[in-house]
Amino acid sequence: MASRHFRNKLVFLLIGVVLVAQLATVAVVQFATERSVRSKLGDDLELGERVWQRFHENRGNQLLESVLVLADDYGFKAAVASGDAATMASALDNQASRIGADRALLLAPDGHWLAGGATPAAAAALAGMLQQAQTAGSAQSVVVLDGKLYQFALVPVQAPSLVAWVALGSQITDAYARDFRTLTSLDASFLQAEGARTQVFASSLPSEGRAALAALPSASTEGAQVRNVALDERHYFSMSRELPSNGGAPVRLALQGSLDEAMAPFAALRNRVLLLSALAGLVALLVAWLVARSVSKPVAELARAARRIARGDYSQPIDPKGRDEFADLGHAFDGMQQGIAQREERILFQAGHDSLTGLPNRALALDALESAIAVEGSSRAVLMVDLDRFKEINDTLGHVFGDRVLDEAGKRLRQAVRGGDLVARLGGDEFLVLLEDVQSGQALLRAQELLAALREPLDLVSTRINLDASIGMALYPEHGDSAETLLRRADIALYDVKQSRQGVAVYESGRDEVHLRQLQLMGDLRHAIVGGQLSLQFQPKVEIASGRVLHAEALVRWTHAALGPIRPDEFIPLAERSGFIHELTRFVLENSLAQAARWRESGLDLGIAVNLSAIDLMDADLPDFVFDCLQRHAIPPERLILELTESALMRDVNYAVRMLHRLRAIGIRLAIDDFGTGYSSLAQLKRMPVDEIKIDKSFVMQMTEDSDDAVIVRSTIELGHNMGLRVIAEGVESQGSLSLLEKLGCDMAQGFFLSPPLDGLALAAWAAEFSAAKAAVAIADIRA
Ligand code: C2E
Ligand code: CA
Ligand code: CA
Repeated sequence: MASRHFRNKLVFLLIGVVLVAQLATVAVVQFATERSVRSKLGDDLELGERVWQRFHENRGNQLLESVLVLADDYGFKAAVASGDAATMASALDNQASRIGADRALLLAPDGHWLAGGATPAAAAALAGMLQQAQTAGSAQSVVVLDGKLYQFALVPVQAPSLVAWVALGSQITDAYARDFRTLTSLDASFLQAEGARTQVFASSLPSEGRAALAALPSASTEGAQVRNVALDERHYFSMSRELPSNGGAPVRLALQGSLDEAMAPFAALRNRVLLLSALAGLVALLVAWLVARSVSKPVAELARAARRIARGDYSQPIDPKGRDEFADLGHAFDGMQQGIAQREERILFQAGHDSLTGLPNRALALDALESAIAVEGSSRAVLMVDLDRFKEINDTLGHVFGDRVLDEAGKRLRQAVRGGDLVARLGGDEFLVLLEDVQSGQALLRAQELLAALREPLDLVSTRINLDASIGMALYPEHGDSAETLLRRADIALYDVKQSRQGVAVYESGRDEVHLRQLQLMGDLRHAIVGGQLSLQFQPKVEIASGRVLHAEALVRWTHAALGPIRPDEFIPLAERSGFIHELTRFVLENSLAQAARWRESGLDLGIAVNLSAIDLMDADLPDFVFDCLQRHAIPPERLILELTESALMRDVNYAVRMLHRLRAIGIRLAIDDFGTGYSSLAQLKRMPVDEIKIDKSFVMQMTEDSDDAVIVRSTIELGHNMGLRVIAEGVESQGSLSLLEKLGCDMAQGFFLSPPLDGLALAAWAAEFSAAKAAVAIADIRA
């Protein structure tokens, strides 16, 4: 739109300039021709006047000669001298017609009429001439007679004395004027002012012009100056002069040069100039249009390109033709477009890719997954890949090294997948792999291949490390038809496989529900203490040799408001994951020591065993809390035993050792729980400041049937004793187990065979009964 405005402006401007120039030329030409025509006409008029003067004199002289010849004619003289009127009249007429005069007149010496074709009134008209002739001998003059104009010549007739005056007159007619016109190309008119109007006697003008002349006010024809007159729409250049006459109103000769005629050749010239101007204007129009187009077209094209670029379309290159400034601008535009396109591509790439590995990021991966699912038909596998022990690598070898490990892991995954598959980094040490077109059977194999690729030893700057990873997998369409569901289920499978350390796992149906239940439990757990849903049970630990109940292990119980009793095996890991475990541990310590205090009041002196989780070891404030708690409930520190699982101690051995020393400093005792399930070495074990090891129940429960278990139990007892530790077996479910343990020299036993976990009161009752029974057995033994 704007460019059209610009184009119109340009066209108007160019045309305007050309037209003004043309008009100025025409005006100058017109002005100059008019000036030259006027001055030429003025000259013509002056010349004409002089010509007319001669013309008129010649005619007068001819007339004079004729009248002199007549006055000298002997016959005529004789006729005049005869005094006979008829003779005089016929002689006069003969002579007049012979020389072609229009009027002939004979006057008496005193001036009165004698003969001739004129009324006596004519004699009066000639009176002036007569007077002149009496002194000069002859007279010439123009005379108005009977409304006509004549040129008269008058001479005396002497025989030998004056006998009469004779005059000949020739009428000044239109033909006379036309003769003059033929000679000079000027119109001549003879006129006399008659009051307000003008009497025209003769004229070479056409009748309309003559009438127009007659209608002119007399003043406009008087005077000798040249002036412009318009007669019947024709334009003339006019001057007039008074004719010599004797008496009466003066008669004037008006000479007119036709301005129109004089201008006619110039008019043709002017028309040609005008035509040329019009042509020049047209050419200018064309040129202006072409120029404007050549200017506005590239501008319009650039404007279109700019709008296209604004819409985000960079596909069309701008390739201007020519080498002018517009082409320069066009090339600059093209450069700009390419720059924008490249930058946008880069920004888009950055927005969708991980800067470290160059792999697609979570957002892009989700998009890709969604659009892959949108294409129906083939089956796919969504793999969640998580590097094992990456945090450890990062912490011990540094972030730079960690970054290179991630980069390498990404590369390996990329190389191990096929063309259409997607590898993305979700964040941290977590990758997503989307396998296209795989059936559930192959999926596991393909995942194993990926894992094998990741497990190749990795040589990085003088360090060789063994990478390991876990892969959780969900299949489409079996495990879900939305990206979100598939990702969540792959994530659940990953979580499970991390727990089980099996490398690869496919999502098991129902796990999602478990996951949801876990989420709910994690949320609800926070309110369990305040809601009074947590309670404690106690399971006795009995000294095998003496049958004494030495300790009670506190085991937490949760009765969920809606779901009923929840097993600690389920909610303890959730409490660890949500961080609630610190509060829970404090709850157990507080309440179990309170229970111990109550037992002591009733005379039951039992040690209390409390389970700590791995995360509790990270709680730097825990030793202070334990100390404080013991003081508050007035429990001697050596009556408290904290149980830590082997795997918890092995997570960060140095830290664990430091923490255990802090706890031991209070005076409490420490036990390694679930011994035999972790991967501790003897060297590590030696560093742990513990008092007791608890053989895991998985070895104890079937030890009477399974000789391997029995061997493990026996060597563990020996190991413990060699290290100066007390050994306790948990999961004692039968008399057989108890007897075997006694034979093997195990110090203590705990298990359903002795007692299930009981509440505080029930345990006290059980303990009293057990001691009594034991005492009875002992007495029976002694008696036997
Ligand atoms: P644990 O520390 O090994 O506790 C012993 C578990 O074995 C208890 O299960 C107990 O009921 C069970 N048990 C005892 N005797 C037998 C037997 O003869 N046969 C069999 N099959 N099982 C027996 P519970 O109470 O369900 O606790 C499970 C685990 O939950 C505990 O294992 C412990 O690791 C954890 N836990 C329980 N209470 C707490 C707590 O207050 N704090 C922490 N951190 N963990 C706790
Ligand atoms: Ca325990
Ligand atoms: Ca245990």
